[in-house]
Amino acid sequence: MEPVRSSDPQEILRRVFGYESFRGEQQAIVEHVAGGGDALVLMPTGGGKSLCYQVPALARAGTGVVVSPLIALMQDQVDALRALGVRAGFLNSTQDADERRLTEQAFLAGELDLLYLAPERLRVESTVRLLDRGRIGLFAIDEAHCVAQWGHDFRPDYLLLSELHTRWPDVPRIALTATATEATRREIAQRLQLTDAKHFVASFDRPNISYRIVPKNEPRKQLLELLRTEHAGDAGIVYCLSRKSVEQTAEFLSGQGIRALPYHAGLDAALRRENQARFLREDGLVMVATIAFGMGIDKPDVRFVAHLDLPKSVEGYYQETGRAGRDGEPSTAWLAYGLADVVQQRKMIDDSEGDAAHKRRLAMHLDAMLALCETTECRRAQLLRYFGQDSGVQRCGNCDTCLTPVSSWDGTVAAQKVLSTVWRLKHERRQSFGTVHVIDILLGKRTPKVEQFSHDELSVFGVGADLTEPQWRSVIRQLVARGLLAVGGAHSTLVFTESSPAVMRGETPLMLRTEPERAARPSRSRGGSGTRPAVELSAEAAPVFERLRAWRAAAAKEQGVPAYVIFHDATLREIATRAPADRAALGTISGIGEGKLARYGDQVIDVLHGAAS
Ligand code: ADP
Ligand code: ZN
Repeated sequence: MEPVRSSDPQEILRRVFGYESFRGEQQAIVEHVAGGGDALVLMPTGGGKSLCYQVPALARAGTGVVVSPLIALMQDQVDALRALGVRAGFLNSTQDADERRLTEQAFLAGELDLLYLAPERLRVESTVRLLDRGRIGLFAIDEAHCVAQWGHDFRPDYLLLSELHTRWPDVPRIALTATATEATRREIAQRLQLTDAKHFVASFDRPNISYRIVPKNEPRKQLLELLRTEHAGDAGIVYCLSRKSVEQTAEFLSGQGIRALPYHAGLDAALRRENQARFLREDGLVMVATIAFGMGIDKPDVRFVAHLDLPKSVEGYYQETGRAGRDGEPSTAWLAYGLADVVQQRKMIDDSEGDAAHKRRLAMHLDAMLALCETTECRRAQLLRYFGQDSGVQRCGNCDTCLTPVSSWDGTVAAQKVLSTVWRLKHERRQSFGTVHVIDILLGKRTPKVEQFSHDELSVFGVGADLTEPQWRSVIRQLVARGLLAVGGAHSTLVFTESSPAVMRGETPLMLRTEPERAARPSRSRGGSGTRPAVELSAEAAPVFERLRAWRAAAAKEQGVPAYVIFHDATLREIATRAPADRAALGTISGIGEGKLARYGDQVIDVLHGAAS
């Protein structure tokens, strides 16, 4: 098929991508870059960043060169573009010499609309010379936060990108990221010499994602309950901190009849690739992974992201949870969190390499994450404020604290009881103990350990009978999360911090979070305010949709591409519902451009007629 030739963004959007209108800031960004301007684009995952450089690349003369660290995904990205009739290629280390030569020739002959490159390619002189000999329409720098050392994803090769401007001063550059803090934005602009670039900052709200953070009791059981009751048959990602817990969790889920695959850096590279490919291509798989998985995974129908361990930063948390629900349909971000997480993360920071400033930075990231976990306010409002976007909305209606408002209580006295127990153990007995034993003392339990150390003789023995064991755990967790108490030493014992004495003296009242009795659970179809409700298919459309999905799965398999590269669920649903009679009618459906109509139109019409007969 002849590529669509046009310099009109609107026409490209409609004819190539099959979409009627730009979303949010897309149009302004596209026009600015197509007109030769530099841009720095901050948009949440799923916001539609790709079109912001793909459309200008098609509108401008020359090739759009896209720098991306996501080598493993380049093939899929290029396949998705080719399925639209866009002439795309990539250069990275996974290719053999022949493939590379073909791509280089196409670039030099001016036959590529888009060329994807890994940043380390730019260190190779021959690549730079190649770029010099061809015609470049624009540079797009994807995942631009990788240039920020302050951030959480720094990649040294990204520092090379500051040279793009020096070497090709007339080529417009567009840098894109889903990481939104002020500090990171400033650092990106400075390091990429994008000082004159226009900044486009989209709203970071993801209204279709329901945020929930629950106290961690029996994490795997809690996870299973979530999957069984709310996400049966859905595709999702489960994040764990360690490789070992990735493997154990994947095994556990498989044993429970859930199709789950492991993914972590310690797995054999071929198996890792295969698991990733299956997750992208097959419907309804659960990927259990370390955070090594997922950057740039643009599978649109990930219905949940579950964290079994605490993320190290709000940035990381938001990026990971943001992989849910790119298609805009209701999705869940679920995190189980407990005292052990705080202890473990603090210890990792203490043990980490790097200078004091580095450790301070890690500690600040962790504290912000803990504040999010312990908040009694709307999670979304707090997240947006963290990213500098105070929307003024107090209650989003689609997070756990909104669905089941969490009250707070005056925990000053309870905190004093905990702290004075720790203090007495230390000063009267020269001892320190862990959480379990301290709670036993507070509750006045005569355990063997209490008897062994005669702790029933302490004046604090039994002073905490007014609270239950889980409540005391919650108090201690919150004290540790706020740095008012610490867990240290080889035996994880409770010890004072600089801030403990002031709390013990009761100088400032301390408000604590009351754990809700039952975890909040939004009903799946309603979503939050401003959310597109999940489309319910009619009795006639449902079987047609299933047939279309089966056809799509077969076609995807045959072509070796992910199913969503062919059509998104939303597109199939619209086809099933509207049942277009012919190709012309089919072409008016969102997500069907000229390329896909030419390629799949007849097949889809056949499936529709087959389904109707
Ligand atoms: P990001 O890279 O910001 O995470 P993508 O570029 O992958 O987001 O886009 C997210 C989803 O939204 C994709 O499925 C894309 O096809 C869709 N999309 C983007 N822009 C539009 C638009 N203007 N109209 C309809 N769908 C869009
Ligand atoms: Zn809320």
